[in-house]
Amino acid sequence: PWGFVSDSLFLNQALLVQTELEPMQLLDKCQYIESQLGRIRTLSNVQEKCYLSRTMDIDIIFYNSEIIETNRLQVPHPRMHLRNFVLRPLCDIIPDFVHPVFGKTVNQLFQQCDDASDTIKEPTIPLS
Ligand code: AMP
Repeated sequence: PWGFVSDSLFLNQALLVQTELEPMQLLDKCQYIESQLGRIRTLSNVQEKCYLSRTMDIDIIFYNSEIIETNRLQVPHPRMHLRNFVLRPLCDIIPDFVHPVFGKTVNQLFQQCDDASDTIKEPTIPLS
């Protein structure tokens, strides 16, 4: 758990996806998949932006190098650089991808991240 206390442990995974969907369509698709996997999205959770245990949470971290700032969708994900559980698996697949706002690679963001949670810092796959 990140940002709240929970007895549950979480499994995090990063996927690199090729898609013809536009960003909003992709968000719709992610939320559809979440609901199909049993996630119940209550209005109060979204409005209060509180963190709760969830059966499934799918976030869009990057969409190519696009910068998107709407009420429903912010890309790059606004908190990705603060979270080892995001940066660590991203390092396995796109360590050299440059964050379009910060101008730093994913690997640099990971090495500089202050997140004290115990996600391991060393990649399991050697970085090339
Ligand atoms: P979550 O609880 O993590 O599923 O996120 C709650 C809300 O964040 C969703 O209803 C989305 O509209 C919004 N959101 C904003 N930016 C993103 C993003 N990059 N990826 C996923 N959800 C996002």
